Amino acid sequence: MADDSIAVVDLDRCQPDRCNYECSNFCPPNRTGKECITQRGEDADVGGPDQIQISEEICLGETCGICVEKCPFDAIEIINLPQELGDEPTHRYGENSFALYGLPIPEKGKVTGILGPNGIGKSTAIKALGGEITPNLGNFAEPPEWDAVIDEFRGTELQPFLKGVRDGDIDVARKPQYVDQIPKSFDGKTRELLASADERGVLEELAERLSIEPVLDSDIDTLSGGELQRVALAATLARDADFYFLDELTPYLDIDQRVTAARLVRELAEDDDRAMLVVEHDLAVLDLLADSIHVAYGEPSAYGVITTPKSTRNGINEYLRGYLDNENMRIRPESIEFEEHAPRVTSRSEALVEYPDMSKSYGDGEFTLDVEGGVINRNEVLGILGPNGIGKSTFAKLLAGKLEPDEGDLDLDLDIAYKPQYVEVDQHMRVDAFLSSITDDFGSSYWETEIANPLQLGRIMEQNLTDLSGGERQRVAIAATLSRDADLYLLDEPSAHLDVEQRVLAARAIRRYAENHETSVMVIDHDIYTIDLLSDRLLVFDGEPAANGYASTPKGMREGMNEFLANLDITFRRDENIGRPRINKPGSQKDKQQKRDGEYYYTQ
Ligand code: SF4
Ligand code: SF4
Repeated sequence: MADDSIAVVDLDRCQPDRCNYECSNFCPPNRTGKECITQRGEDADVGGPDQIQISEEICLGETCGICVEKCPFDAIEIINLPQELGDEPTHRYGENSFALYGLPIPEKGKVTGILGPNGIGKSTAIKALGGEITPNLGNFAEPPEWDAVIDEFRGTELQPFLKGVRDGDIDVARKPQYVDQIPKSFDGKTRELLASADERGVLEELAERLSIEPVLDSDIDTLSGGELQRVALAATLARDADFYFLDELTPYLDIDQRVTAARLVRELAEDDDRAMLVVEHDLAVLDLLADSIHVAYGEPSAYGVITTPKSTRNGINEYLRGYLDNENMRIRPESIEFEEHAPRVTSRSEALVEYPDMSKSYGDGEFTLDVEGGVINRNEVLGILGPNGIGKSTFAKLLAGKLEPDEGDLDLDLDIAYKPQYVEVDQHMRVDAFLSSITDDFGSSYWETEIANPLQLGRIMEQNLTDLSGGERQRVAIAATLSRDADLYLLDEPSAHLDVEQRVLAARAIRRYAENHETSVMVIDHDIYTIDLLSDRLLVFDGEPAANGYASTPKGMREGMNEFLANLDITFRRDENIGRPRINKPGSQKDKQQKRDGEYYYTQ
């Protein structure tokens, strides 16, 4: 095979007892007597003896690809690697398995970001930087010693860091990606968890700034997703480490909390000279947070490339454009674009629901929601913006007739399909069985085109719901909600745990669904880029979380963004090159000017 190709066999999908070895039977070199595709045999280090392995020396490469076509379980990938990559990967787990090229470079006093899809090697990179694995430079049969690895990175900024890793001088603090796992590994009160991590003596300060004081004496397993996320961040930043790895800061946090989290991370880097490495898919937050970024690209589960560092602005711009300048590499056929002009408000749609002014209190008046009456149109996506704990789900329950307003004459009995913010799954059921139990359209070409393909469900259909990653679970939950027969659809934070590509695809699927079904989809999200890509109009909530909330009538994008961002005192400018929104520095010239003009988001 050409040096720049690799063969990857997904051992979870290779099922020799359910096939006829179509891969090896049709492989041209095999048919001429060569041993290109063979069974692993009893001595295999990984995989079962009947599963196959592919000789990358003999394989003819992607131009052949016959085994890929013939395998009934999509277990094989033959991939031509970009020619710019060096001969050997930085790490490869074994024959026909995932290969990682490049490593991110943590820098003292700086926040380094990684921007790229899920499943292309960030965990491998972090294991290498944390000393959990020694990069094998592609030589998995005879892995090199650390000295050889350090030699390989001679002259780069990574070399001194790797020396520290070899000598055991680098302490690593790591915030996990999936905070819902925390209650499974810790049984106790929030205060106890934080105290055990508080090596810097900053518990009180972090608890105050992250507003987690009210849950300090709560059991960890009673916390919401947003509370767990902030507790996990506090526990990580309280550690006295040299290198902090933060795997997604933003899921379940509202915008205010995201900005606070970003500031805390920056302060620890700048004031304490620590090295921070952050994976983040909320681009507005990544932009605010990182001093430089590495773009990651590749094929999930097959290979990943981590580029050399780029300025944060250029890295995000190149990523959105889908073309990496230095690498001369197209990573997506089309660019992702944002409107600089506020879209014109149109009245093309008829009303789906009209609701009056309403008010609802509960908990002996502890929380009150006031709603200004309004109209939700057919054929539209209504973005819902506002802090957590402000009454958004109470509003949905009022529309669904599940709660009666204390004031206001509402006689609606809408069937609302609802995806909660925090998707919990405990059913032992395959994805295909679960989805086919929801809709008769399951498997139809219409359903495949509208729902399964844009949400990339193909490769996970046979998996068990309980085995899915957070992003996979999210995509299944969106598909399940849109597959229901309902009057109105409400998706709470569909972007959580999705990477940027998946957010864009999900946004398109949701928009198309609203248009094709003449229905309305309401989307609560805190990622401003997702809201921008999705929404036709906005419904803005304001107030004091857990005390009182106010929902104003749905508005056009310009008015809605202005109302929402004025509440937060945040303005966005536009990038000069690609027009994407960027958060202004508070008090900067542009920030002041835009506030004077009352234009918080759209600049033209
Ligand atoms: S790769 Fe596919 S065709 Fe080959 S043995 Fe595995 S399941 Fe069968
Ligand atoms: S790509 Fe062709 S040559 Fe390579 S393993 Fe598959 S069938 Fe054989």
